[in-house]
Amino acid sequence: MKPRVRFAPSPTGYLHIGGLRTALYNYLFAKNQNGKLILRIEDTDRKRFVEGAIENLIDTLTWAGISFDEGPVMGGEYAPYLQSERLHLYKQLVEKLVLEGKAYYCFCTPERLEKLKEEQQKLKLPQAKYDKHCLHLSKNEIDEKLISNIPYVIRLNVKPDKKIIFNDVIRETVEFDTNNIDDQVLLKSDGFPTYHLANVVDDHLMKITHVIRGEEWLSSTPKHVILYDYFGWEKPIFAHLPLLLNPDKSKLSKRQGDVAVEDYRDKG
Ligand code: GLU
Repeated sequence: MKPRVRFAPSPTGYLHIGGLRTALYNYLFAKNQNGKLILRIEDTDRKRFVEGAIENLIDTLTWAGISFDEGPVMGGEYAPYLQSERLHLYKQLVEKLVLEGKAYYCFCTPERLEKLKEEQQKLKLPQAKYDKHCLHLSKNEIDEKLISNIPYVIRLNVKPDKKIIFNDVIRETVEFDTNNIDDQVLLKSDGFPTYHLANVVDDHLMKITHVIRGEEWLSSTPKHVILYDYFGWEKPIFAHLPLLLNPDKSKLSKRQGDVAVEDYRDKG
């Protein structure tokens, strides 16, 4: 089978130099293997959305000579390639998980969640985790709240005391303990999916064979592996690329001037 890989940026401003490196690896792998490279715009975080950022991403990638076989401009068999135009798919699929007990409605208020976090911080727990409060609501309680239009999110039901083990091309065997994995929000109260849900659904529906992305996503991968298993879908091959660093091994500065591809271009 010919590989299908994707570059999946979020339109939050400019193309990060690390993003261009990820795009380049995907591009070279697709070319080398006679595969296809897909551009997918992950615009599900409305708070971080920046006007003009999609056009800017496409212009910068075009300038860098990275061409795509499918994407928002040229279309393709698996269109649309803008996640904000695929909301019905995420909703439909996450509701299926709810029916199967693999995900659940959560009506907790921001105030309750904040209090929970503070309590957990006082106990010096390594990370704040949702306490599964709403997992124990009865069907009637849930229906009543839905009818009364109480805002809700849908969360992943992570089973405790299990090991999530997967293979990464670069890291080889990677293991996570489910006790350290939060019941991740999959669908937000604005009806948009989170990155995790949309990313897994689209990689599956768009028949992506290899997920090649930055190492900063490695800690999200166990959540994705749980989702693939819950949906009963075959997992892609994962390759998490080490981060780009300064010569002194420090992280690249967040100041836009040091990390935006367009600045390197403008400086010649
Ligand atoms: N939207 C994510 C980003 O902004 C994509 C991560 C991934 O490739 O899964 O980098």
